[in-house]
Amino acid sequence: MKTVNHWIGGKTVEGASGNHGPVTDPATGEVTTQVALASAAEVDAAVRVAKEAFLDWGQSSLAARTKVLFAYRALLDAHRDEIAALITAEHGKVHSDALGEVARGLEIVELACGITTQLKGELSTSVSNRVDVAAIRQPLGVVAGITPFNFPAMVPMWMFPLAIACGNTFVLKPSEKDPSAANRLAELAKEAGLPDGVLNVVHGDKTAVDALLEHPDVAAVSFVGSTPIARHIHTTASAHGKRVQALGGAKNHMLVLPDADLDAAADAAVSAAYGSAGERCMAISAVVAVGAIGDDLVEKIRERAEKIKIGPGNDPTSEMGPLITAAHRDKVASYVKGAAAQGAEVVLDGTGYTVDGLENGHWIGLSLLDHVRTDSDAYRDEIFGPVLCVLRAETYDDGVALINASPFGNGTAIFTRDGGAARRFQLEVQAGMVGVNVPIPVPVGYHSFGGWKDSLFGDHHIYGNDGIHFYTRGKVVTTRWPDPSEAHTGVDLGFPRNH
Ligand code: NAD
Repeated sequence: MKTVNHWIGGKTVEGASGNHGPVTDPATGEVTTQVALASAAEVDAAVRVAKEAFLDWGQSSLAARTKVLFAYRALLDAHRDEIAALITAEHGKVHSDALGEVARGLEIVELACGITTQLKGELSTSVSNRVDVAAIRQPLGVVAGITPFNFPAMVPMWMFPLAIACGNTFVLKPSEKDPSAANRLAELAKEAGLPDGVLNVVHGDKTAVDALLEHPDVAAVSFVGSTPIARHIHTTASAHGKRVQALGGAKNHMLVLPDADLDAAADAAVSAAYGSAGERCMAISAVVAVGAIGDDLVEKIRERAEKIKIGPGNDPTSEMGPLITAAHRDKVASYVKGAAAQGAEVVLDGTGYTVDGLENGHWIGLSLLDHVRTDSDAYRDEIFGPVLCVLRAETYDDGVALINASPFGNGTAIFTRDGGAARRFQLEVQAGMVGVNVPIPVPVGYHSFGGWKDSLFGDHHIYGNDGIHFYTRGKVVTTRWPDPSEAHTGVDLGFPRNH
């Protein structure tokens, strides 16, 4: 069986802890791979290598860094298909969706290629008598990234390209459920000319994560995953003196106003709710229908959802693949099975679905729940599967109040033809990313990604300008160069004044 080992110091390093985890092909249910699970000592070894590499990389020129990043961009572009296939084999998402994931990760590498412009400092001349002030930004040192299963290539690429462009060295701890893509990303970085030790991959579970959170030589931690773990990461790493950005889970609402184009809204709801089998942190999992359109909208969603073809991700005709594990599939199914008892009308029940010839795959069909109550489990929890809840609101204000009462605040969308309502919505809604007639408003690479409330712990969103700020520390240098002809100013014990 294939084994995924660590990547430390520019080479494969076999796991030494003796612990391995299973990696399953979700379409067949077969364990195809085992992944090494690092001990705290192995994490320490990786951090030490990264610390050593920082001595040179932290001092490297911007020209040297961007040379590598441009070469990396070209290599990733040439290997899109291969990386997408690795994702599909372990995550299960369909190949076209995996290609989209690679493309959105590549966007951050492209952003990092422009670091020469983004890291320019600021200078104020003559702030006082012959005094100039320069503001510069410097790397932090060794930074760690801990990433979720649902985007095994894109989310790591939200982090390490910018971190290393800023001069840091990086230790990535990918999800143990689909670890292979991360190693391939690191191998290609070496091929692009990245010096050994600048990007390291350590596989593992809670043991490895906690070792990173507590390690004295890790300066900062980027995390993306579920809300309870994000909270744990933020609390623990902060207590150990680290800078932390911890992005958590979500329940993303789509508000559909009575004047919306209902066909466009239904297309968007189906794409955003069921794409990647609902395993996206920006998936729409709750539609809020305002006014009298609810029944029409639900019918249009049902018609479209019934036509979605479910099958293995490597079959080009499949539109939706399986879920990550059998246990997760069963948990998702339990929400659908319990929905009616909590007041919902089950319009589509995807439980019990299977694909002929692949009965051991982690299959589930599409579910649509209508008249969902806000106190029900299906509404309150992040289900993270192909289950769309529809709620009803009488007015725009009721709809926004419902959305704002959610503890999550990742993304949200409004569908309307009324520009005034859309404008109010973008100002009034409590979420970090807002779409107007756009159901999955994932910001482009040069804007930052991040939610509010329980969807993000820490002050910095990820990538974009926030990413560059997160991976650098500001420094302000105040300089006086007296004119050669100037006499000494003499002793002055007063606090420096600006004149
Ligand atoms: P997860 O929280 O279970 O795991 C994320 C990472 O944390 C993994 O690397 C895992 O090994 C590690 N981990 C798990 N349990 C841990 C523990 N007890 N202590 C320390 N580390 C632990 O998340 P997941 O199931 O892999 O991913 C799905 C979740 O991620 C969903 O909630 C989804 O909304 C969220 N997500 C959020 C965003 C975002 O940008 N906000 C993006 C993608 C995914």
